[in-house]
Amino acid sequence: MKRKKIGLFGGTFDPIHIGHLRLALELKQQLELDEMRLLPCHKPPHREAPQASSEQRAEMLRIALQDCSELQLDERELQRDRPSYTYDTLLELRAELGGEVSLVLCMGEDAFAGISSWYCWQELIHLAHIVVVARTGWSLPQNGDAANLLKAYQCDVNSLNDEVSGSIVLQAPRLLPVSGTEIRQQIHAGESAQFLVPDRVWQYIREQNLYR
Ligand code: ATP
Repeated sequence: MKRKKIGLFGGTFDPIHIGHLRLALELKQQLELDEMRLLPCHKPPHREAPQASSEQRAEMLRIALQDCSELQLDERELQRDRPSYTYDTLLELRAELGGEVSLVLCMGEDAFAGISSWYCWQELIHLAHIVVVARTGWSLPQNGDAANLLKAYQCDVNSLNDEVSGSIVLQAPRLLPVSGTEIRQQIHAGESAQFLVPDRVWQYIREQNLYR
């Protein structure tokens, strides 16, 4: 049986850039996902508040995805006026999509390294699979909670099809060395971030005078 697999890729997307977009698309293809959803968070619980508003970040995602039928925007976290806990999002998606769908939560090594600080982190693996991708400048955790979680649940990619949750899979898509922090710093310093974000997103950043 070929199980339906839905990929979830969360982030602040402050702003969305070609590193996120290319990664999401390659993961969708490599993992043969039926859908790949990008979920911007409203109030990130573990980091400083984003510089662009939730509405501006969502608008940049809408613009970026305009001509891309492979990736979808899921705005549910923006509609909650409280911190964006992945645990709440996964519970909601499970209730909506039912128990037969494979949920595939995708994140970079940087995000995975800090997973034990997430709300109800030990429950996440029972609600979804986790796919961890390499990130330039980072490596997999060698000890601590995240390393132990990886040891306990690491499986090969077939498990995404066999079960609806419960596996951690390491994946190595193409990596573009781009980060939101670098883009914000460049713009703040009066430099151009053209070509690191889609052209129309760059136009929007300038129109809205973002990250100055
Ligand atoms: P910041 O520099 O503000 O932290 P960021 O670009 O890392 O921004 P987020 O929107 O918080 O972006 O990241 C969302 C997810 O995307 C994280 O899991 C992160 O690991 C991953 N990610 C971001 N940029 C890249 C990239 N260039 N290559 C691979 N993964 C990335």
